[in-house]
Amino acid sequence: MTMLNVEGLTKTYHGETPAISNITFNLNKGECLALVGESGSGKSTLARCLLRIEAIDSGKIGFNGSAIEKLTERQLKPFRKKMQVVFQNPSAALNPKLKIKDSLIDPYAQYKREVTLSHFSNGSKTSYIKQLLEAVELPTSLADRYPHELSGGQRQRVTIARAISIEPELIILDEPTASLDVISQDAILTLLTDLRKNLNLSYLFISHDLAAVNRISQRIMVMKKGEIVDQFDQKDLFAKDRHPYTQELVSIF
Ligand code: ADP
Repeated sequence: MTMLNVEGLTKTYHGETPAISNITFNLNKGECLALVGESGSGKSTLARCLLRIEAIDSGKIGFNGSAIEKLTERQLKPFRKKMQVVFQNPSAALNPKLKIKDSLIDPYAQYKREVTLSHFSNGSKTSYIKQLLEAVELPTSLADRYPHELSGGQRQRVTIARAISIEPELIILDEPTASLDVISQDAILTLLTDLRKNLNLSYLFISHDLAAVNRISQRIMVMKKGEIVDQFDQKDLFAKDRHPYTQELVSIF
């Protein structure tokens, strides 16, 4: 079943050549779709356009069958909750002045009328925070700490906990492991895969790291200079008939 249906998406900054051009793809419910490409190829621009935090020039964005590309901020509110994002740098994503528990309760407070919190809540705030920390395999004692008292990997787990807290259907993961050491990267990829299966999530996994992409995704799209030049199943990453650019990326991997 298609969750995200993107057609002909184009975005140009300041009248230059388009940062993304005529982007067309589907993302199916429950899958992890990877978007790979070198720095500057337009990956983050595409993510920001899908999240409607960047205005698009033209194209369509369908989410569960609803066209969302022209909705007003107010009309977008129910969709915002269903589409969450995790960025590369967890330090920038967490307010340094808030304890971890307060960062976690923040989206809940914002959406509490619409969120059932069936996975994480039996009603009390303390139990909600405890269950969220457990879901991302963090000790519950971290609830009273500040972000600077955590490791990079632990901080990224907190941002993941925050993203799943309001029960999204799709998470855009924009280089979520790029700021981490290899061991933490590995652990975060395992966690993300477990969460996708357990919570029936869908991911758009943006990365320039083919090893990570090969491990976590079911399908892969390759972006070059703002265009998608190749799309294929993960098992076909090393196939001989791949686009020459994909083969180039594979050869340096
Ligand atoms: P990636 O995420 O693959 O590194 P980006 O989407 O960040 O690529 O960038 C794609 C192109 O758009 C680049 O040429 C970049 O310089 C340009 N770009 C990105 N963000 C902006 C912006 N806010 N204003 C102007 N140009 C931008």
